Amino acid sequence: MTLFSSPAFEEHEAVHAFHDPVSGLNFLIAIHSTARGPAAGGVRMWAYPDDQAAVDDALRLSRAMSHKNAMAGIDFGGGKTVILGDSRRDKSPALFEALGRAVESLGGRYWGAEDVGINPADLAFARKETRYMAGLEGHPAASGDPSPVTAEGVRRGIELCVLRALGKPLSEVTVAIQGVGHVGAILADKLAAAGSKLVICDVDAAQAAAVAARTGARVVSTAAIFDADAEVFAPCALGGAISAQTLPRLKAKVIAGGANNQLTDAGVGQAVFERGLVYAPDFVINGGGIINVAGEIRALGRGEAFDPAWVEAKVAAMIVTLGEVLDRSGAEGTPADQVAVRIAKERIAAATR
Ligand code: NAD
Repeated sequence: MTLFSSPAFEEHEAVHAFHDPVSGLNFLIAIHSTARGPAAGGVRMWAYPDDQAAVDDALRLSRAMSHKNAMAGIDFGGGKTVILGDSRRDKSPALFEALGRAVESLGGRYWGAEDVGINPADLAFARKETRYMAGLEGHPAASGDPSPVTAEGVRRGIELCVLRALGKPLSEVTVAIQGVGHVGAILADKLAAAGSKLVICDVDAAQAAAVAARTGARVVSTAAIFDADAEVFAPCALGGAISAQTLPRLKAKVIAGGANNQLTDAGVGQAVFERGLVYAPDFVINGGGIINVAGEIRALGRGEAFDPAWVEAKVAAMIVTLGEVLDRSGAEGTPADQVAVRIAKERIAAATR
């Protein structure tokens, strides 16, 4: 198994490996950077095919969190936990208590929250063993489900991109949403309220039908979403929606959505740019959720109640940052995703100095 020679390794500060003898499961906590503050990032539980896949994921995701947190303007570095296990089969209170002890042993260098395969009830077990777990429910500082804040940031980001690309308001465009889960469904509600026409898809047909019933969206198959007659393509499912295969099929002038890792690789970002599309880098537009979590950590630190006004100010600033990324992308002739990574690295380097 390789760590330092993994393509995802980029001067990570630390990668901690833990074994829980009770559940028999292993987990990793990767800390990419604490230059801007404690590393913050979700806990993911996934049945990785092998150890190397888990290491690579932890490295890649923790680095992405450094970039996302820097662009969101919150005082956190980047970190991520990956639990090597099947979230439908392998969860137990003992596992999450072991996770809590592991997080506590890092002494506040890392804060965890929910990610794929994890819910607030799981983290409540971890919270019994550590102070450094957020995204919880049932206490005055708690921030609850981050998805509505993520969706609100994405709605505003789409509005900005549509104005730039087409000079139109949301009421005059059709948006194709790939995946109407937590984020995509709320985004659909918000866009429908703004007067947008919607085309949606989901592998979960019942979920797509429920969202269509309340928004008037047209449901298409998960394959046909890439051919939808829509000015905006909003990836809100899993990563890798925009690839060398799918990009040529898009009729959209804007790509902006909530999913992480929307582009399969940097070459696709270049191709998006050369086609003249306006692309909202995923780790810039989808920062609302981690801002919400940061609001909880801030409230805990101050011994105060959660403050939605602080979160709102950060989300508004995030959209201003998105505008700056698009400005620089246009002025320099550089793809927006490359510009955003560069700005994030500049912010991290400035904090390091
Ligand atoms: P979710 O699991 O609730 O929703 C994802 C939806 O996509 C599900 O309904 C699933 O059935 C559907 N789906 C999966 N594969 C699909 C495919 N090929 N085609 C169409 N639909 C498909 O997850 P979520 O919390 O809504 O997150 C969505 C994305 O946004 C993820 O990439 C996540 O990492 C990212 N994200 C979420 C948040 C948040 O606050 N929840 C914050 C930042 C980023």
